[in-house]
Amino acid sequence: MREPSAPPAGLRAWASDPQRSRGRRHVEAPAPTRNDFQRDRDRIVHSTAFRRLVYKTQVFLNHEGDLFRTRLTHSLEVAQIARSVARTMRLNEDLCEAIALAHDLGHTPFGHAGQDALDERLRQADPESMGFEHNFQSLRVVDMLEERYPAFDGLNLTFESREGILKHCSRRRALALEHDEPGGVGRRFLDRTQPSLEAQVCNLADEIAYNAHDIDDGVRSGLLVYEELLDLPLVARFHAKALQHAPSLGGKRLLYETLRRMLSALAHDLIDTSTELLEAHAPLSADAARQGLPLIAFSVGMGAELRGVNAFLRSALYRHQQVVRTTEGAKRVVRELFDAYLAQPDQLPAEHACRSPLQQTVVDYIAGMTDRFALSEHRRLTGAAIDLGTGNSA
Ligand code: MG
Repeated sequence: MREPSAPPAGLRAWASDPQRSRGRRHVEAPAPTRNDFQRDRDRIVHSTAFRRLVYKTQVFLNHEGDLFRTRLTHSLEVAQIARSVARTMRLNEDLCEAIALAHDLGHTPFGHAGQDALDERLRQADPESMGFEHNFQSLRVVDMLEERYPAFDGLNLTFESREGILKHCSRRRALALEHDEPGGVGRRFLDRTQPSLEAQVCNLADEIAYNAHDIDDGVRSGLLVYEELLDLPLVARFHAKALQHAPSLGGKRLLYETLRRMLSALAHDLIDTSTELLEAHAPLSADAARQGLPLIAFSVGMGAELRGVNAFLRSALYRHQQVVRTTEGAKRVVRELFDAYLAQPDQLPAEHACRSPLQQTVVDYIAGMTDRFALSEHRRLTGAAIDLGTGNSA
């Protein structure tokens, strides 16, 4: 254990401090030039799972266009927002960056369609299974699935980065985690306490990022009609401000200027509301800030408006006929991949074939795939080429 010290220069008393980290599961000597959270971030950036994010779907499948967000660009946008909120609030920017860059490492190919299909197959294969959840899978990636270091599996990140990555957790899963790691990252879901303030910032930075960029991608793809978005008070307000500032603005510059203003306003609202909450509660340390209610929040009005945007995106974009069609094809690819590997485990690469039980090995392997590798493996194993536009065999 290291001696507690004053918070790093310039940070608030409630900011996470790498000097007071609860440490790594495998003890390592400190790095000479980087603190522990910077080292976590660097390990994440150098991981295989991080590189694969570039070929994983956010909403639009990777092959549908080169200009849409992928999991990688989404993660970079979340990191940018989280870091700038943290810097302004004098929280730990390095920890925010590490959590944001790792938060989606466990996503399957084809976004939520892949997750749903893996979850369904895993539960069918083993009724006792807790199923598949991308957030928990992100923790598996950094705790066990990356194979880079001689002395341990995974990236051996600090408790604070791991805690931030595990955003949700069922009670049953938390009990299992607590059993394996008493007082570890599962504990707070049993105690109903909060993660670090930096983790809370990342969660809300994620919401800001995806709501803003899904509007952008949705409009540019032609699936959303910009004018329909003006029924949303949040969008309408910044659309009006953009035009007030530049009356002749139109087309994609009007879209970008509206979204830019909306994104800034969301970040500023988050900073102002959270700063007020923190000043009022004045927790004495990062640990004290974990007790009780979340202290990072949007104002009530802004939170409601953002939920309005999200509800609109859910019905107009995520459930758009064209997105749903690709979803059906993607689910079929993942289901059939699962069935094929389970029936012929010798088709798994040798280094993956040794983990047990087999269905978990198969799930970990498929979850790690990029969209295009999943499609090519599916074709190799089943002989069928699925057209993701229709979900049918081409
Ligand atoms: Mg995300």
